[in-house]
Amino acid sequence: MVAEQLAAQGIRCSRVLAAMRDVPRHLFVPRALITQAYDDTALGIDCGQTISQPYIVARMTEALELPAGEPLVLEVGTGSGYQAAVLAALGARVVTVEWIPALAELARAALEAAGLADRVLIVVGDGTAGVDDAGPYDGVLVTAGGAQIPRALLPRLRPGAALVLPLGEPGHQELVRLHHGAQGWVEESLGGCRFVPLRGPCGWEGE
Ligand code: SAH
Repeated sequence: MVAEQLAAQGIRCSRVLAAMRDVPRHLFVPRALITQAYDDTALGIDCGQTISQPYIVARMTEALELPAGEPLVLEVGTGSGYQAAVLAALGARVVTVEWIPALAELARAALEAAGLADRVLIVVGDGTAGVDDAGPYDGVLVTAGGAQIPRALLPRLRPGAALVLPLGEPGHQELVRLHHGAQGWVEESLGGCRFVPLRGPCGWEGE
């Protein structure tokens, strides 16, 4: 997966490639799909959600440009827990927020099986509202698609840190990297992607 799919598609950061190599993705997919665990595709998990495609996980992780050491990262949308596991394997401490309580439980079990649970705090709720008393973050990832930047998260970024998120419409989004430069917020596009919907006021439904 790492050599043929990630490096071949342009993932260059050796720390990210090593973390992708270290995390057993089969622990994060439903048993029925285990033979596809290392395919470069998103797969269905419980509650109608998905585990992201390995390339997208690697691309989003790389785009954070995390500092060395033990950076603190916020993830909105725990899902299977795989993205959080990759961040933890890279040396980060992770706060990850999941809307669906049953998925948070499954992700916790998978992270324990992978031996990474002590680096990851899972919180149930609306991640776009932020997490009380946590941060500032060295990077923030939103792993569900919406039309709006969750503004509440911007003040929680450490200077120079990036927010990476899919923005667009239900069938197609653009992966966007946002960081605060010398002249204000800078938005870069990292290419197309397709995520399940972000719930809550920043999502398409505005629930
Ligand atoms: N990062 C995950 C994939 C996430 S799928 C992985 O590696 O497997 C998107 C997840 O975001 C779903 O589990 C969905 O329930 C969750 N979600 C959607 N809106 C949310 C919100 N506002 N706050 C927290 N989680 C949310």
